[in-house]
Amino acid sequence: MRKSFVVFFVILFLVLSLAAGSARRKPHLASARLSPAAIAAMQNINPERIRAHVRFLSDDLLEGRGTGQRGGDIAANYIATEFALAGLKPAGDGGTYLQKVPMVGVTALPETSFTLAPAKSQPMPLRLAEDYVVSNQAQQPSSDIDADIVFVGYGITAPEYNWDDYKGADLHGKVLLMLVNEPPSDDPKFFKGKALTYYGRWTYKYEEAARKGAVGAIIIHKTDMASYGWDVVRNSWSGEEAYLRSEGPKLAAASWIQLETARGLVSAAGMDLDRLMTDARSRDFRPVPLPVKLQAHIVSKIRPFDSNNVIGLLPGSDPKLKSQAVIYSAHYDHLGIVAGQSGDNIYNGALDNATGCGVLLEIARAFSLAKPRPARSILFASVTGEEKGLLGSEYLGKHPPIPASRIVLDLNYDDIPPLGAPEETEVTGAERTTFYSIVESTARDFRLTIRPDARPEAGHYYRSDHFSLARVGIPSFSINEGVKYKGHDSAWGMKQAEDYTAHHYHQPSDEYHSEMDFTGDAAMARFGFALGWKAATLREEIGWVKGDEFEPAREKSIAAGQN
Ligand SMILES: [Zn+2]
Repeated sequence: MRKSFVVFFVILFLVLSLAAGSARRKPHLASARLSPAAIAAMQNINPERIRAHVRFLSDDLLEGRGTGQRGGDIAANYIATEFALAGLKPAGDGGTYLQKVPMVGVTALPETSFTLAPAKSQPMPLRLAEDYVVSNQAQQPSSDIDADIVFVGYGITAPEYNWDDYKGADLHGKVLLMLVNEPPSDDPKFFKGKALTYYGRWTYKYEEAARKGAVGAIIIHKTDMASYGWDVVRNSWSGEEAYLRSEGPKLAAASWIQLETARGLVSAAGMDLDRLMTDARSRDFRPVPLPVKLQAHIVSKIRPFDSNNVIGLLPGSDPKLKSQAVIYSAHYDHLGIVAGQSGDNIYNGALDNATGCGVLLEIARAFSLAKPRPARSILFASVTGEEKGLLGSEYLGKHPPIPASRIVLDLNYDDIPPLGAPEETEVTGAERTTFYSIVESTARDFRLTIRPDARPEAGHYYRSDHFSLARVGIPSFSINEGVKYKGHDSAWGMKQAEDYTAHHYHQPSDEYHSEMDFTGDAAMARFGFALGWKAATLREEIGWVKGDEFEPAREKSIAAGQN
């Protein structure tokens, strides 16, 4: 008797001190608890149902769920049917579950030519694929460029870091030469130190150049700065690039060049590339016009096609708060069939991302069984075109069924390994939101240790669909397992992850096997269910931590929503 009293008081003390601790850290967010209704609904999540979805979605009959291909369309229809069976309301186009995403494929053809024409010396023709790669983001079958080249350092405008490489220079009609990555720093307050921010990604650089009115942008490839070799650039740019059809300003020449080619270009201008690269590390850097023109003839095959996002809505129970929503996302597309490849050429994408779809469908079913439902609405979006560059989610972010300012949180699932019961979770990016104290306390309740991002310099946060929603201001992150599983040490989990990356990731062998254990997928579904439920019932606003790179996007979207 006395012993159990002691235990009771020890537990009471621990609970109180934990509560006091989390209250001290984040006083503006009260810790949310799950209601009995939420817990009852959550218990419906079943690993064997996730298995059934994965087995079907990764079957050879679905032909690798290629974007805009038959197998991808079958997957979309399957998910829409499951949404209907769960009782979700259609939230796509014209009373359907499908939201059409217009895309276009652009392939640079061998007739394309690039010549550097210095003012004072002989023109230098470049070799496609060997010296440069190019894609016509303006989506034209033929474009000609004859324009001055201007070196713009890192090509970054980042007011929050007091950094502007452009300094108001008029760059209309110019071709901008720039460095990959971002100014190097160990200071976490300056471009997040060693971690990569979006400003370092090549996609940002092309977007910013287009906003400045440039016709072309050439990124100098330097292996150590890019963290991948020229062969990676050449291979990934030699086939078809896909874009959303006619969205915003686009470059006629989005290009990369080899480091040595860039050296030749800069020395033809009578300057030194190393010197320019050093100058670019300074806040005082200004654009440097080079007396060299780019004369380009860009010939492309243009292939318009459509695919669909699949969106369902579960209306909230509160008359006022139901106009706001939590969104769950998971891409259903994968790489399809690669024609002409011998042997197995179906890229089934069992892990990537039939698992995420299975998780999404089980979360949707569990929410639909809840009585009463949470106050805010819940949106479920299975998006297309992730493998083509986050295109489905980009379109969803730009055309959300509920205004972005009223979407309080996105929880995304991508590639959830079926390896058994996880003891860790990775929620990279959650720490950037004011929701993080709830993520921490919920993880504790689920006996999950939060595993920090092992390689922040790789910028994984910018490579999955939650990022598309973060860009329009919605607090967003992905939920996944860490590497520690019940009955195994971390080294085992690490080995599984390495084996998958080396032998199965984006390979035809990412296939379903009956010995897969979906316990972990169900655990991640329940964890995400709990987080989403809390976000859907919380009184406080969820936002970005002060000074985060997505805070201005949120402010902008809220201001637009109030007009
Ligand atoms: Zn994926």
